Amino acid sequence: MAEKRDYYEVLGVPRDAAADEIKKAYRKLAVKFHPDKNPGDHTAEDKFKELGEAYEALSDPDKRAAYDRYGHAAFSGGGGGRPGGGFHDPMDIFSQIFGGGFDEFFSGGGSRRKGSGKQRGSDLRYDLEISLEEAARGIEKELEIERYVPCDSCGSKGTKGSGGVKACTTCGGRGVVARQAGIFIQQTTCPECRGAGETISDPCNSCRGEGRVQRDSRIKLRIPAGVDTGTRLRSSGNGDAGVRGGTAGDLYVFLHVRDHDVFERDDANLFCEVPLPFSTAALGGELKVPSLDGQSSIKIPAGTQGGTVFRLREKGMPSLSNGRRGDLNVRVQVEVPTKLSHDQQEKLRSFSESIGDHNSPMQEGFLQKAKRFFDL
Ligand SMILES: [Zn+2]
Ligand SMILES: [Zn+2]
Repeated sequence: MAEKRDYYEVLGVPRDAAADEIKKAYRKLAVKFHPDKNPGDHTAEDKFKELGEAYEALSDPDKRAAYDRYGHAAFSGGGGGRPGGGFHDPMDIFSQIFGGGFDEFFSGGGSRRKGSGKQRGSDLRYDLEISLEEAARGIEKELEIERYVPCDSCGSKGTKGSGGVKACTTCGGRGVVARQAGIFIQQTTCPECRGAGETISDPCNSCRGEGRVQRDSRIKLRIPAGVDTGTRLRSSGNGDAGVRGGTAGDLYVFLHVRDHDVFERDDANLFCEVPLPFSTAALGGELKVPSLDGQSSIKIPAGTQGGTVFRLREKGMPSLSNGRRGDLNVRVQVEVPTKLSHDQQEKLRSFSESIGDHNSPMQEGFLQKAKRFFDL
């Protein structure tokens, strides 16, 4: 690996730079080297990553203090042993700094959408709880979310009639205003048009010029079979509608699968415990067990011990990636009857005498190992 550059040098700031000076330097350079602005340019991409790393280290007072003392060694704990010690995705850092994201930032400054007034809508998050059965078969859900939807009254234009849109005079249609801050020029969203780059003289009454309104809306979501807690689904275009016809954001649905009364889950495999009458354990027979497909049964061989696990192939959860089903593992618990009648007790006593000490495989093994404790 090439020699790492000094973080202060990367950001072009002195070692005693104040926090906001570091932030400004990062903003300026990150915009310059952003991959969207330099498609296919690997040098720019590397610079962008380097900047993210330098900014992450120097923007955190603790990390910065560590860096000042130990240099890069402060963060090179060999990868292991320091969870969270690594660096984040430079794109994440970028969007933290720029809030609304790249699109919004460039809406006035770049050539992409000058004067259109359009802005992308926000992405939304929705947390959805479903049952294990729903996760197993997949399901279609209707979500109710309050979000921005396009304004019908004006067809998302934001104006009542035509010709009511003028370039914003405060920012000259750029959507951003520049401000001198020390030796840096800071760009901020135009306070007059709020980044749209234009003002409206006859705004639509329903949306007050935004071209979108807040509504409770219903969204159908198909949840594929095999999802688990932590699965994140993206519903493209179902986030907030954009400003004045801008692209809609996306809806991210985070799934939580409820704990089940009977089954425990580990990825595609299911586990459950089923009581087994002790007479069936001794004599063998059939045991009915629950499964996601309804009732199943397993054949219990004579002499089955408690704790034995029977595996029912492909009776578990489907895998999200290939649909193949995992197994259902049934652990039997031998049940000792309570409330025996006098007659039953007598029968068990005579059974016990007839069997003696010599037909108990587990006990024999145990006594072999534990002989010295019993003084035999
Ligand atoms: Zn409207
Ligand atoms: Zn403006």
